[in-house]
Amino acid sequence: MALRLDGRKLADELAKRLQNEISISSAQAGRPPGLAVIRVGDDEASGVYVSNKEKACKRIGIKSFGVHYPENIPSEELIRKIQELNANENVDGILLQLPLPKDIDPGPLLMSIDPDKDADGLHTLNLGRLLKGERGPRSCTPAGVMALLVSNQIPIAGKRAVVIGRSILVGQPMALMLQSANATVTIAHSRTPNLVEVTRQADLLVVAAGQPKMIGAEHVKPGAVVIDVGIHRLLSQELGRPVGKFKLCGDVRSEELSNIASAITPVPGGVGPMTVSMLLVNTVSRWQEHCGLSFNLVDLLP
Ligand code: NAD
Repeated sequence: MALRLDGRKLADELAKRLQNEISISSAQAGRPPGLAVIRVGDDEASGVYVSNKEKACKRIGIKSFGVHYPENIPSEELIRKIQELNANENVDGILLQLPLPKDIDPGPLLMSIDPDKDADGLHTLNLGRLLKGERGPRSCTPAGVMALLVSNQIPIAGKRAVVIGRSILVGQPMALMLQSANATVTIAHSRTPNLVEVTRQADLLVVAAGQPKMIGAEHVKPGAVVIDVGIHRLLSQELGRPVGKFKLCGDVRSEELSNIASAITPVPGGVGPMTVSMLLVNTVSRWQEHCGLSFNLVDLLP
């Protein structure tokens, strides 16, 4: 039976560690850590994600500086707000919730975030720091996957890893992090022929294709570790269940893998909670740096 890599449990453990860091050092710092989440428009899923992030901050003692704008806000006004947050000494992390409404180009907005307050690790400078192995905030989802692997003592060095997906948000930084942990990494994507041939070589398969249930038994080598990054809200009937509300599923048909994979992440409760955890880790580690505190979250920043 495949080991279940429990992201909720690890996220709870990390929350306690961060809460402890904050309570020990807030007096010395003179203020708690601060995170500003900028939300634009009324995308329902984004609303849920932002509210989860703000609740997670509150639970551990991070102060929220969130703002919510209507979808017709001009980009110049968003840039002005980002500049104001860049200059605000109580704000350690800034996150622009994606996706933005279709008429707003996220590129210039992400670039206007101070790289040292980049809570999502998506600024060009921070992606460059990751490439060069320099310290800096890390992309939350792949950093969360690394923490899940390490805490479950899954061997990475010397293993053959395949990452499906080459987005800047997940696939590319994931591949870099696995490579710097000494895996031999292949990236597969939508133009990769014979995907099954590639994925069956993987000791460690990370699936971030954004295609519901595309990976099943035929893709997985016996004993492989499978990380399902995908998250989709499907109507129950699309999943062959009685008509009801929405159900979450991933990119992997995990029910086919329980006797094939050695370990697998559930959806929900696998990678998702770890993404939020890493946002908190980035914010607290920025705070430690901004306030000249001792920096001891290095093990969580791959
Ligand atoms: P994306 O659409 O930007 O990128 C998808 C990638 O998958 C592309 O590089 C594409 O080439 C590749 N791909 C698409 N179809 C493929 C196929 N049939 N075969 C091989 N490769 C294929 O998506 P993203 O932002 O990287 O996100 C991927 C998934 O992860 C989505 O389901 C997203 O919702 C989810 N996600 C989850 C979390 C989380 O916290 N759990 C965080 C971020 C993204």
